[in-house]
Amino acid sequence: MLDLDNVTVRYGNRVTALEAATADFPVGRFIVLLGSSGAGKSTLLRCLNGLVRPTSGKVRTEDGGNILGSIAALRRHRQRTGMIFQQHHLIGRLTALQNVLTGRLSFHGTLRSLLPLPKADKIIALEALDRVGLADRALHRADQLSGGQQQRVGIARALAQQPLAILADEPVASLDPATADKVLALLHRICREDGITAIVSLHQVELARRYGDRIYGLAAGRIVFDGTSDTLDAAALERIYGTVAKPVPRPQPDLNSAPLKMAKTA
Ligand code: ADP
Ligand code: MG
Repeated sequence: MLDLDNVTVRYGNRVTALEAATADFPVGRFIVLLGSSGAGKSTLLRCLNGLVRPTSGKVRTEDGGNILGSIAALRRHRQRTGMIFQQHHLIGRLTALQNVLTGRLSFHGTLRSLLPLPKADKIIALEALDRVGLADRALHRADQLSGGQQQRVGIARALAQQPLAILADEPVASLDPATADKVLALLHRICREDGITAIVSLHQVELARRYGDRIYGLAAGRIVFDGTSDTLDAAALERIYGTVAKPVPRPQPDLNSAPLKMAKTA
């Protein structure tokens, strides 16, 4: 089980992005992080794969070790931790399959990864594309896929790591509501089937309710809610979002900063 023990993160000794956060992420659960922009969701996710080093406190991996305990431990942990981002970070000129294959690179040494990867890796990558329903798009350029398809390639790339956990930072924030629901349902189903722990930050309260086995609410760097969808009531939403217990508006897709344009729909 992944967990945070009393983790505080201060950036540049000024901004406190996380304050004494203690949270656990049981194996195989789908855990949602809710919170306004700036609440600390991305920081929490980055702590979980060692991209951000806590100012104090500990992050422990599945086997109970400190994830920053040694370079080898961190490398092992990252190898088996898939990342999915809002803007999927695909390489547009590469095919879907080549993008998914990048999920296999960390299993090879630097030199070996300059050469074409072994057939076994290609099979794993193709199977991952098949899981997300895109086997027939394997040889299409990533930038010719729709936004929803690109995000499914992002899921396939994470799956190609044969992950123990997937960390997803607002994975559906750039998609229209119907596509967002489909993509999240797919991620949820696959994680359930494979027993992968998923930790997913979301903007949409209704999606958190639908898919979260457990929900952490963050406000100004603090965990202000820890419960299930049944207990995510108006008072809890007020603690998380401040004033009103209304669903927060969906953020608009930031197409200018997207590595790929998403003109088409899924
Ligand atoms: P969220 O993902 O919930 O929007 P973040 O974890 O990105 O929240 O940010 C939490 C706080 O930390 C915010 O005040 C943000 O401005 C600040 N922050 C995030 N990353 C950095 C950074 N690299 N340097 C300085 N401050 C940062
Ligand atoms: Mg964020």
